[in-house]
Amino acid sequence: MSDCLFCKIIAGEIPCDKVYEDETILAFRDINPQAPVHILLVPKAHIASSYEVTSQNCQVVGHIFEIISQLAEHEGLHNGYRVVTNCGADGCQSVHHLHFHLMGGKKLSEQMG
Ligand code: AMP
Repeated sequence: MSDCLFCKIIAGEIPCDKVYEDETILAFRDINPQAPVHILLVPKAHIASSYEVTSQNCQVVGHIFEIISQLAEHEGLHNGYRVVTNCGADGCQSVHHLHFHLMGGKKLSEQMG
């Protein structure tokens, strides 16, 4: 997707603070962190949102959670963390490329909505 911000980051056209990369996913620090640790994990294939996750492409979501577990260990999130994906207008999704926010390093708000 030529006009997708995260596709441009994945292609190396826009820099990022990369923390993990393999053949199918990229993880980088959020430019506007909401917690001491705030990492975004994205599939390299363009999937617009969780609306577009299907039986054909859901394997990468499981892989993202495998890496979340590893990154949480690496980032020292031994007291817990939060994983969020925003979807669509009501979910306040601002970048329309599926991504998971990994946040931790402090006691997070009990408010979820
Ligand atoms: P969402 O609102 O769930 O779509 O999340 C999009 C996230 O992308 C926000 O937390 C932004 O701070 C983050 N973001 C936007 N541009 C960049 C960028 N160039 N590098 C890293 N994070 C970004």
